[in-house]
Amino acid sequence: MLTTPDFTEITPTADIRTDRHGNRAKCLQRLVRLDLPVPPTVALPFDTVRAIAQGRMPDLAQVLGLFGPDTLVSVRSSSEAADWGGPGTILNIGMNDAQAERLAAIHGQSAADAFYVNFIRSYAVDVLRLDEDAFEGPLTPRLAKSQFEDEMEEEFPQDPTVQLAQVLKSMARAWEGTTARLLRQAKGAPADAGLGLVVQQMALGPGKGLSGAGVVQFVSSETGEPQVTGRYLPQGQGRAALSKSEARYIEHDERGPSLEDDAPETVAALREAALLMRTRLREEMQIEFTLMDGHLSLLDAVRAPRSARAEVAIAVSLAEDGIIPRHEALTRIAPNTLNQMLHRQVLPDPHRDVLTTGIAAAPGAAQGRICFTAAAAQASAAKGEACILVRRETSPEDIRGMHAADAILTERGGMTSHAAVIARGLGVPCVAGATQLQIDSRKKSLTVPGRKVFHEGDIITVDGSSGEVLVGAATMIEPALGGAFATLMDWADAERDIGIRANADTAGDAAMAQRFGVDGIGLCRTEHMFFEAGRLTVMREMIFAENPEDRAAALERLLPMQRADFQGLFELMRGQPVCIRLFDPPLHEFLPGDREGIHALAEALDLPASRVASRIENLQEFNPMLGMRGVRLGITVPEIYEMQARAIFEATIAASRKGAPVVPEIMIPLVSARREVELVKARIDGVASAVKSETRKEFTYRLGVMVETPRAALRAGEIAEHSAFLSFGTNDLTQMTYGLSRDDAGRFMSAYVHQGVFAEDPFTQLDIDGVGELLLLGAERGREARPDVTLSLCGEHGGHPQSIGFCRRAGFDYVSCSPFRVPVAKLAAAQLSILDKHLPHDVDLDIGADD
Ligand code: PEP
Ligand code: MG
Repeated sequence: MLTTPDFTEITPTADIRTDRHGNRAKCLQRLVRLDLPVPPTVALPFDTVRAIAQGRMPDLAQVLGLFGPDTLVSVRSSSEAADWGGPGTILNIGMNDAQAERLAAIHGQSAADAFYVNFIRSYAVDVLRLDEDAFEGPLTPRLAKSQFEDEMEEEFPQDPTVQLAQVLKSMARAWEGTTARLLRQAKGAPADAGLGLVVQQMALGPGKGLSGAGVVQFVSSETGEPQVTGRYLPQGQGRAALSKSEARYIEHDERGPSLEDDAPETVAALREAALLMRTRLREEMQIEFTLMDGHLSLLDAVRAPRSARAEVAIAVSLAEDGIIPRHEALTRIAPNTLNQMLHRQVLPDPHRDVLTTGIAAAPGAAQGRICFTAAAAQASAAKGEACILVRRETSPEDIRGMHAADAILTERGGMTSHAAVIARGLGVPCVAGATQLQIDSRKKSLTVPGRKVFHEGDIITVDGSSGEVLVGAATMIEPALGGAFATLMDWADAERDIGIRANADTAGDAAMAQRFGVDGIGLCRTEHMFFEAGRLTVMREMIFAENPEDRAAALERLLPMQRADFQGLFELMRGQPVCIRLFDPPLHEFLPGDREGIHALAEALDLPASRVASRIENLQEFNPMLGMRGVRLGITVPEIYEMQARAIFEATIAASRKGAPVVPEIMIPLVSARREVELVKARIDGVASAVKSETRKEFTYRLGVMVETPRAALRAGEIAEHSAFLSFGTNDLTQMTYGLSRDDAGRFMSAYVHQGVFAEDPFTQLDIDGVGELLLLGAERGREARPDVTLSLCGEHGGHPQSIGFCRRAGFDYVSCSPFRVPVAKLAAAQLSILDKHLPHDVDLDIGADD
């Protein structure tokens, strides 16, 4: 036999549990235990709400019997985690003709009528889901009731238990709706997550004397600093104070009347209650309160809403005040929250005009004029005008335009496409793979189906954090790396047990990385140094050299430039390790792709255009990603690596003279065979000996290999014999393990993820099962051959908490990621080590661990 669904009155000793009654019910019990003035409240557990959805009610007369006679009640949802949502609150249940009469006697007929009509409307529209239009416009209670009767073919219920039953049923069913389920599952709720409900005694609406309702918190939602925020509405109810212009300030305020003006002792009591909650619930809470003839009740308290910046400030301040331990402050913040603090953000606005969306490839937001070429972007930047570089996809030729642009938008590409990788390195917001974009580069225009055409010079906003492209200039929020952020980073450093380095190619990147306190540079992609103005021409001369002498002459001119680059990096990093990757991309990437460029180059080199064109054609490859790049170029044109090695060694000597001794790390890219390493090593050792004897200076260096091909991972044992370190380049390793082009995968990735072929884009989230297995194999074989080999990961996955967890478990020494990902990586690493060190019950992510 089915038992009657149960309920529990919330008293200090009642058995109320978050996993049975929900987080609001538990929080209310905590307030009751703190002796705060919470009105009588009843909690309906998840099982009861499930029974209600199936039509079995608890004994509602008994529920209402717990409150005084003639009491109105409210019902609020109480899901297990606050952010899983739940149906909206319904107030004033029990309102009927008799109550309206009582109200009229106190406040006059018109106030009582308005109150009654409001309830009928909310009951009809929010509870029974009747058509809103039927209850619009000025109504009297009589008219509203007859409207109700027309729609429902029954009288408006006068019995509070009937009203309550409807409300409970409607809320229980709303929780089971598909949209609600999908929304909460997106926040991590399990498929069978339950809903609890709380029924609470209300004041009878408008009251005598000082009566009304308000919402208050004592911390700013934007900054997390102490600040009284909220409003109070005389004769109001619920959260109405927050939306009504006639609402009052809480504290005395020059701008208008305040609650404190009328009732200073109430504001003092609220302040005291918030302080008590802060210390005992260990959280900054937002309080909903009512006053009934001067008597204060606290109806509800929820975690004060907060921006990323406020989240950090609040956690740090709770720890600094000794309310929570430091390790808990660190675990309270989701690592990706920090992303929002490091970049400019678009102010959340429901009315924003979204032109299209793509992959959120580099975080931050920027607005500016549309430019379709790198040259236009540079010209725009030279005029001091913000610009957005819009390309079908970017290539190394665009690098200067990308530098100049405030944001980058591409039609093609994914998380590791050229545009995405460079943008993240530069800290420039980027949306890639916006496949709906139709770019007409000849007409210099863009559009998406069904929208107007945008021309060069029109203003758009690119939000690289959300992947949205907005029409016009959106309102922005500036980044704020205040004291609390720095404190949090210091605490994370003290806790973490895996190194965090940065991928940095320029002095600017390195300076940014230093600002975030990295352990060194894990990847300096040297090819990015050759695209700078002035160098490109010398580079091209080197490529076009007809004989070894001419090539040597061009390299001779590149040498001092590279030496200065490396010296700059070494000095900036002050003795910390700097891992320099030898030249990686195919040579043809340095050559122009259009007729105009070919003519200009022919002129500069004093060669016939036809010769230049045919040379370029000779260098073209069917599949450059698998062609003559990386070490293959080093083996075929060894002079380039020799020049780079010399530049590194000479810079080492110069920088060591000025400060801490530098031990450079030289990394060979795209290795797949042991012999490749042997050949390159022999040449580099030769250069080292030559530089030592020329300068009569001693230095040491570490030579290592970038493991980016499946074969290198499988043969890591023999490769490690010649390598002081192995750094896994998971961008190429993912590409080659899947046989999936980094630059083209964006076209079908969303279909693949949508249909569950891939749980996530493997270029964003490390594929633990496949690529991960290669990493483990490589690490194991490498370590077996050379126990002291340094292991690291330097692909884009390096800044992702999940991959950091993986690398940590696999015993890697460090991960390396874009400078802007460093804070996220540090926090994630700290959290992982905390979770290992402390028992799970020590780390309370929920409010109120004190009971
Ligand atoms: C990689 O392949 O993971 C890597 C870091 O190198 P790149 O992205 O420059 O190919
Ligand atoms: Mg690579």
